[in-house]
Amino acid sequence: MIDLAILKGSSFVVLGLARSGLATVRALRAAGIECVAWDDNVASRDAAAQLGARIVDPASIDWPGVTALVISPGIPSTLPVPHPVAVAARAAGKPIICDVELLARAQPEGRFVAITGTNGKSTTTALVGHILQQAGARCQVGGNIGRGALDLEPIGKGGVYVLELSSYQLELLQTFRADIAVWLNITPDHIDRHGDLAGYVAAKKNIFARQRAGDCVVIGTEDEPSREVEREMAARPGIACVPVALDRPVANGISYRAGMLVDADGYTVDFSDVPTLPGDHNAQNAACAWAVCRWLDMPRERIVAGLRTYPGLPHRQERVAAVGNVVYVNDSKATNADATARALSSYDRIYWILGGQAKEGGVAPLASYFDRIRHAFLIGEATELFAGQLEGKLPYSRCGDLQSALDAAHALAQREAAEPAVVLLSPACASWDQWKSYEHRGDAFRAMARALPGAESLGRAA
Ligand code: ADP
Repeated sequence: MIDLAILKGSSFVVLGLARSGLATVRALRAAGIECVAWDDNVASRDAAAQLGARIVDPASIDWPGVTALVISPGIPSTLPVPHPVAVAARAAGKPIICDVELLARAQPEGRFVAITGTNGKSTTTALVGHILQQAGARCQVGGNIGRGALDLEPIGKGGVYVLELSSYQLELLQTFRADIAVWLNITPDHIDRHGDLAGYVAAKKNIFARQRAGDCVVIGTEDEPSREVEREMAARPGIACVPVALDRPVANGISYRAGMLVDADGYTVDFSDVPTLPGDHNAQNAACAWAVCRWLDMPRERIVAGLRTYPGLPHRQERVAAVGNVVYVNDSKATNADATARALSSYDRIYWILGGQAKEGGVAPLASYFDRIRHAFLIGEATELFAGQLEGKLPYSRCGDLQSALDAAHALAQREAAEPAVVLLSPACASWDQWKSYEHRGDAFRAMARALPGAESLGRAA
């Protein structure tokens, strides 16, 4: 836990008492700091009370004595409708911040690697953390992934915090400064919270706020908003700007394509046989991780060793089992067509399990990958919509639920697979029609695949 003694004498209101909010209460109280807490959920309030927070009805918070409101990033403080506690804090002229800001204030000697982007944040954060840890560097990984910021351990001088930061967290930072800021990509997302694409980009650009000479930015340049950000950052004096580009050389940057990256001086790393980093998108993540570790002066061999042993994250093209030539892949995190496109682009012979609660457009945007698909197995509410979209283009079956789809996919794949193939759960849909969450769906798939006759488990034990 982070020691917040440096903030002694302050007084905070903590709004939102899930994982990061409760960690904030715990850290504040451990340092003897006054803390009023609120959550619209009673059980969460009780949990905070047990940790020593005062539960005060929002209408009777005594704002003049409050230093700042620490808000859970998931709770809107502006759009679409601000929470009343945020409205009251603003009316009282109080700053609205998040736990990452408190971490930065409490650990001024630590170095911060901050990672954002619409897609690939968790993978890149986990990959950087893995490489540094494998190499014996002192580092802690958290933020929007794994442990909340104040659940991390104090790191002191020479240590590195590797933090995944969402746009929601980034707009709540006031003094945080990234020694290295990674910007992966931008596609429209979370528009309800940011008003429009420009608002979303502006929130994300807080990752560069307060950076100074000697700091570094690493930028993926595959979309126009990101290229604009790169031009802006390259013009900032004293800041090292490392562009990362797909399949084309870039001055002082890194070029990549599936399984391969080439550093500015021509040094080439071939990781095409690393099964946890398939596809161009993971090559982008690997190239950004490479740039971070190089900037931290990590020897190249150590970085290569880390890339080669990256275990992957659950539910993101996670290889869970193999039977003969066929690998079973859990990509349950792919809840929209865009994410599923990444998985489909990574394999040649695919037995594809998809469906659930459809998103706008369904699977129509995936047509360019259909020639890689041997058969589609439909589940859940989206079945009829997807059947209509696949009709005449792909052989498909209506399977109802995941177990039936896996059984059918397994039987066909084993019958046909003279060459390597994958049975891929990449639903392009939300899970809520049949599951509690995408994790619940992916955990079930993993267990089912490992229970197939003759299955050999792959990857992590979870
Ligand atoms: P995030 O934390 O930003 O949601 P993840 O690393 O969890 O990102 O990856 C989520 C999904 O996003 C992956 O399953 C994959 O489909 C897609 N993805 C991962 N990395 C990238 C990338 N660099 N560019 C585009 N899409 C990506």
